Amino acid sequence: MPVVEVEKLAKRYGDTVAVRDVSFTVEPGEIFGILGPNGAGKTTTVECIGGLRTPDSGRITVLGRPPADRSLRAEVGVQLQEGELPDRLTVREALELYRTFYPDPADWRQLAGDLGLTEKLTTRYAKLSGGQKQRLSIALALIGNPRIAVLDELTTGLDPQARRDTWELISQIRGRGVTVLLVTHFMEEAERLCDRIAVIDRGEVVALDTPAGLVQQTSDEQTIRFRPSVPFADALLTTLPEVRRLTRHGDRIEVSGNGNLLHAVVSALALNQIVAVELRLEQATLDDAFVRLTGREES
Ligand code: ADP
Repeated sequence: MPVVEVEKLAKRYGDTVAVRDVSFTVEPGEIFGILGPNGAGKTTTVECIGGLRTPDSGRITVLGRPPADRSLRAEVGVQLQEGELPDRLTVREALELYRTFYPDPADWRQLAGDLGLTEKLTTRYAKLSGGQKQRLSIALALIGNPRIAVLDELTTGLDPQARRDTWELISQIRGRGVTVLLVTHFMEEAERLCDRIAVIDRGEVVALDTPAGLVQQTSDEQTIRFRPSVPFADALLTTLPEVRRLTRHGDRIEVSGNGNLLHAVVSALALNQIVAVELRLEQATLDDAFVRLTGREES
């Protein structure tokens, strides 16, 4: 049984259509990413899944139940947005308080350790840095030992090291069998962590695939760069069906195309006793796929 099923979800705020038509299914044990530019409708989607908002139309089930079902509270951990805790509460008090909400809570000391918060246990919420608040909000999402963790922009505001530590933690959580629903606008995060990604733009799913699948779907173009051991005429390569474009930069050559481009180019050169020196092959990245799908750079 899928862990989360979303079918034709729609939600508007007054005149603003936040979610127009979103459908996807999250399988058990997956890290499922929702990737899209700011304002695409990502948060609204996960808030509906978390039972925090009521959809205008469409159908959502979480572990086979409607999102508002009270029994889901212990099974779904939702990361809080910044500023939702009282300023005077210390890290330890927040962890101890939140663990009382759940029947089978995690060991808060261990969780604080995993998230690098051990030194901050007596610090009040208002005195934490942005990154520390972020890590506390992740700890609070996980303290109930949920079966599903919903994490919204979890590494925004973290420095690169803390971001990497958080990725490591998410992988560990999945290793314990927790299904993770991850909202992000960071391409690298989606690429590294997610098994599958739904790309959302203007309230609609514009693509849904594995990171590698998304790249393949949107671009099969490859680029090869090299320096030939001896000069040759463009036609040697431009007549190959795999080659779309050849450009010269001094003694360097750049060839773009598709299919088995590398093999075709190297073979044609070899037939003419030419060696491709300093050969590099570049393939499209998830960044390229994202720009093609949404028409926008990562924001
Ligand atoms: P994302 O998480 O992808 O940035 P959101 O779901 O937060 O997108 O927002 C989608 C759209 O809905 C945006 O245009 C946003 O301004 C609007 N929106 C979000 N929350 C509210 C709200 N509470 N009231 C009015 N408009 C909102």
